[in-house]
Amino acid sequence: MKTMFRLSLSLLGSAILCAQAGQSLAQNPPPPEHPAVTVRGQVYTPRSILARNMGAPADQTTQFTPHKIVGNIYYVGTKTLSSFLIVTPQGNILIDSTYERNAPVIEKSVADLGFKFADIKILLGNHAHGDHQEGDALIKQMTGAQVMAMAEDVPALQAMKPGGKEHPVDKVLHDGDQVTLGGTTLVAHLTPGHTRGCTTWTTTAQEGGKTYNVMFGCSLRPPAVISPANVEEFTRAFKTVRALPCDVQLGDHGAQYNMLEKFAKLKEGAPNPFIDPASCTLEADVEEAMFHAILAEQQQAAKP
Ligand SMILES: [Zn+2]
Repeated sequence: MKTMFRLSLSLLGSAILCAQAGQSLAQNPPPPEHPAVTVRGQVYTPRSILARNMGAPADQTTQFTPHKIVGNIYYVGTKTLSSFLIVTPQGNILIDSTYERNAPVIEKSVADLGFKFADIKILLGNHAHGDHQEGDALIKQMTGAQVMAMAEDVPALQAMKPGGKEHPVDKVLHDGDQVTLGGTTLVAHLTPGHTRGCTTWTTTAQEGGKTYNVMFGCSLRPPAVISPANVEEFTRAFKTVRALPCDVQLGDHGAQYNMLEKFAKLKEGAPNPFIDPASCTLEADVEEAMFHAILAEQQQAAKP
């Protein structure tokens, strides 16, 4: 029985990785319904978290209403895959190209907001999985943007070659490096575990005469099987994320920051719903609880 449990865990390990380039959830067996954790009154399982993040296949490629989040930061992604535009007087920064087939969706969202796609000068990424960075080569072709990536994610990015295109990496970044354009500075924080070079970006944005700390969180979702190296990485990531200054929490999937609920509250003259310091550690709370629950299950299964 225990052997079977271990076997099924290891089989699931390869399936639970964030949806890879060209694959849809339908082609992968879904992650398990256990363990279940309850955080702030809501129950989560590995399966419910992945379903929440990805939605249906169509949600991953359908435009979500592009909108201003705070200051010079805008949402230009699909219904479930985030893509953020940061607008400066010297050109713009894009975080996350998502799937290659989404490039026209992002281009349209940028245009719908009244900005030029060709003004994207720098392309950054959240982490080296296809649903977030597969489109880097195409968007670089379309805009001429410089692609910058965290060193620890470079090997995984270089293995990502949609249609045989080499993955561009114009500048290799390290933990704590700053990326500056037109008066906006983003800081790259290494928050590993989900991928080796998973990057949480922070910046500040001005709105209504105030300055807000904005955090573009990387995925903290653990794999089905947690290795000793993963333990070290995730422990570092949870600690780092919890210590970052944050008034506005964003994530590589809208569900990680309740985008739909917040977007529904956007109203002229009303307080900005995205400014929500209380939600800044919600995703870390969920994933850290899940991480410990998976580890406990693994330890239980390994007992003779
Ligand atoms: Zn991922």
